[in-house]
Amino acid sequence: MEFHSFLIKYGEIGIKGKNRYMFEDALVRQIRYALSDVDGDFYVHKCHGRVYVDCNGEYDYEETVEHISRVFGIVGICPVVRKEVKEIEELKKDVVSYMGEMYPEGNCTFKVEARRANKRYPMNSMEINCALGEAVLDAFPDMKVDVHNPDVRLNVEIREEVYLYSEIIPGPGGMPVGTNGSAMLLLSGGIDSPVAGYMIAKRGVEIEAVYFHAPPYTSERAKEKVMDLAKLVSVYSGPIKLHVVNFTDIQLYIYEKCPHEELTIIMRRYMMRIAEHFAKKDGCLGLITGESIGQVASQTMQSLAATNAVCTLPVYRPLVGFDKREIVEISEKIGTYEVSIQPFEDCCTIFVAKHPVTKPNLERIEKSELNLTEKIDELMQTALDTTETIIIGQKEADSF
Ligand code: ATP
Ligand code: MG
Repeated sequence: MEFHSFLIKYGEIGIKGKNRYMFEDALVRQIRYALSDVDGDFYVHKCHGRVYVDCNGEYDYEETVEHISRVFGIVGICPVVRKEVKEIEELKKDVVSYMGEMYPEGNCTFKVEARRANKRYPMNSMEINCALGEAVLDAFPDMKVDVHNPDVRLNVEIREEVYLYSEIIPGPGGMPVGTNGSAMLLLSGGIDSPVAGYMIAKRGVEIEAVYFHAPPYTSERAKEKVMDLAKLVSVYSGPIKLHVVNFTDIQLYIYEKCPHEELTIIMRRYMMRIAEHFAKKDGCLGLITGESIGQVASQTMQSLAATNAVCTLPVYRPLVGFDKREIVEISEKIGTYEVSIQPFEDCCTIFVAKHPVTKPNLERIEKSELNLTEKIDELMQTALDTTETIIIGQKEADSF
């Protein structure tokens, strides 16, 4: 079957009035972004309170559906056959040939649901339903009408053209990115943080990211891995502004001045402070991490409290109640897992203590940080000044 358009279904709860425009505009923008690297001539537009993707000429159906399915806010994707508006006898032929091609076994139950956006059409919706229903029954003796619970709901929309559709391919749900502000993701090379970014983006939040790099202890390849992960997340979230912070001197200084068992917590607190600096500068409304309660020593309730204490922005931890297995499942589904498990060193693993504190005491941590007074401000400033900013996943987004 050759489909000429896709009708995009989206959840409409809470998107009345002004919100509806914002929601639909963001949806259109994100669909255009998702299709920008698919071969074909696509026209994404709003029409009569609906969003459509019109496909002009040849295109790869599977690839197109796969790309549209990445767009948050979409509940369903309906492949549409478009026909010219014709009088009813001709329309019957089009509908019969559609049903024959879509349901070749010819034994389903169905219901015709006609809608007339074009009121000049000389029959009303009820009359169209009856006429087309009869034509289908005549053509396929084993098909039956079921108005309450049909296998197939055949939608016939009469607009400038006739739109025929009956299949709904499920979309990812959520809200279109760009409808809920932005947040700063602390993105490491691991399994968790890309999943955390994906989950918050799914709620309509635009993502920025910060990665703490510790050359020469972490290699250029470790940084490239993080860039690869950002690229994979950007497939769903849209372009990501990635800040690569050189964290080496801060880390070495903490290593030199603070008790080694507190190293990870203190390091994490400095990561949060720096992430927050960039977040505020760019108007982000929160931080995002891939932390999950109890996963490692630095993620016990006490450790999370100690890390959290330096933040003034809300910290979103969408994986907080997930087991590793559940996180792995999502990372496989979204395609980040294979990159995450590549064996490149992480700046946290290099300086990690043999016996890190699992129940850090905030006062003690704050006291240890006093050992850093002499040079830390200067080191922080240098880290901020030397941060490299890269836009990941730009594609042709600029042209929208
Ligand atoms: P992940 O591998 O996804 O980071 P993890 O289990 O390795 O998860 P940790 O290394 O303990 O977790 O880090 C917890 C969180 O802190 C990460 O999910 C991430 O949000 C942040 N983080 C850790 N290291 C870095 C880093 N080098 N750059 C940016 N963020 C980091
Ligand atoms: Mg990690």
